[in-house]
Amino acid sequence: MTTNSQQARNLIGGEERPGIDGGEFQSVDPATGEVLGSLVASTERDVDLAVAAARAAVDRDSDWQVPRNRVIVLNRMATLIRERAEGLAVLESRDTGKPLLQAQADVAGAARYFEFYAGFADKLDGRSIPVGPDFVDFTVREPYGVVAVITAWNYPIQIAARTVAPALAAGNAVVVKPAPEAPLSTLEIGRIAHEAGVPAGYLNVITGGGPEVGMPLAIHPDVDLVAFTGSRDVGKLLGSAAARLIRPFSLELGGKSPNVLFEDADLEKAIPAVVNAIVQNAGQNCAAGSRLLVHRSIHDQVVAAVGERMGSLRCGHGIGNPDLGPLITQRQHAKVAGMVQEAVAAGARIVVGGASPEGEEFSGGHFYLPTLLSGVDSKMAIAREEVFGPVLVAIPFDSDQDAVQIANDTTYGLTSAVWTADVARGHRIARRIRSGQVYINTYGVGGGGSAELPFGGYRQSGHGRTKGLEGLLEFTQIKNVCVAL
Ligand code: NAD
Repeated sequence: MTTNSQQARNLIGGEERPGIDGGEFQSVDPATGEVLGSLVASTERDVDLAVAAARAAVDRDSDWQVPRNRVIVLNRMATLIRERAEGLAVLESRDTGKPLLQAQADVAGAARYFEFYAGFADKLDGRSIPVGPDFVDFTVREPYGVVAVITAWNYPIQIAARTVAPALAAGNAVVVKPAPEAPLSTLEIGRIAHEAGVPAGYLNVITGGGPEVGMPLAIHPDVDLVAFTGSRDVGKLLGSAAARLIRPFSLELGGKSPNVLFEDADLEKAIPAVVNAIVQNAGQNCAAGSRLLVHRSIHDQVVAAVGERMGSLRCGHGIGNPDLGPLITQRQHAKVAGMVQEAVAAGARIVVGGASPEGEEFSGGHFYLPTLLSGVDSKMAIAREEVFGPVLVAIPFDSDQDAVQIANDTTYGLTSAVWTADVARGHRIARRIRSGQVYINTYGVGGGGSAELPFGGYRQSGHGRTKGLEGLLEFTQIKNVCVAL
């Protein structure tokens, strides 16, 4: 595992290499500021080297082109991740600040992605198309070639796994650039891939900043596809750069996802799920349930119960397994605190939280208390924009129509949940909510990152799908072959 006693290295062409231009940066524990590792501040020259290694890999005839071999090696990666789960979880918890239990779940999820996509690697068949007795026509699903993967810091090992595993399963070579705030577990995935037998050049990991590494990678002439996970603003930049090159790309962006509670909801089930959906990973979750839409007849009761539960939660260093760790950086903390202040100035009421926790143990990190705001109007910025912190807004509604209108009243559309005892109503509302996932009487399925369920955004939450079979097909392109007899 990477520690500050090790030197900064990229993983390129099956080798650990220092950066060409010698720059470094450090990854720190966001709860204490302690340095965890030195990383290569890569430059365009490292990007060129990594892309060349990936290109050489896909251009070389090798056993990797036999799908069954990819099944075996990707399953081996799942096994190695499971064997090293504890060390990986500690690394992930310290690098991101998240509670150890959540990091353990993320590592289990990462192993599951490799296992899940390993199972598909030898099942990517095509169609035979009848065009008459004089022709044989069929389709082949081919890899794109070299895939640039650019990831966010909030679930680094899971995001790397859910993107790299299908890209490799489909036969592509990958260059991953993890976020500089939490890159350590992605480097470990690269090392594990090498050990499991992924041939040199098929998985390269280069570290560094977005403008310095992410953009040159995305627009590199030898990259065939860009898979981006991150913020809407950077997604717009990368998406337009890729579009100018007529290069296919996928964008997994942010959200402002609603939990919609009707008057007949099972509150014993719903309230813990509502709280978990906003405090998991300290709310730094693209799929955070950051809006609580409640039927007016139960609004005050639900707000009181959710507030009580949020107020009882404990912040702390991730390794001690608190309910919430710190926010990732001082910048993120300032953004969260600023958005709450603005909301209060615009008329929102703080039910609970709205501040950093007090005490010596919090002085070295960027902690923020679980926060519930009421008196929020769906036109306020706090109800429309992603906060990316443990901040929930409660908004009352009066009818089914009203609930749908408010649920759809953002430019995002990633996840949503409807809580009702009336199954027919649940389905009717699910059909009308504009988001890539809708849950009824749950928020997620728990355990292992739900690899089976396609995930991605409607509207400005993104473009393309990750997870599930759909997440694999994103990394393939169709060739039609027609033979005259
Ligand atoms: P970010 O957009 O700041 O960074 C994401 C990645 O892009 C990082 O690797 C970063 O270094 C790189 N980057 C930054 N600027 C760049 C530029 N100009 N050119 C090229 N690359 C650049 O996002 P973040 O702060 O790391 O992550 C938080 C965001 O990610 C939130 O909006 C969250 O909702 C979103 N997210 C989405 C999903 C999803 O699956 N939909 C999952 C996790 C996070």
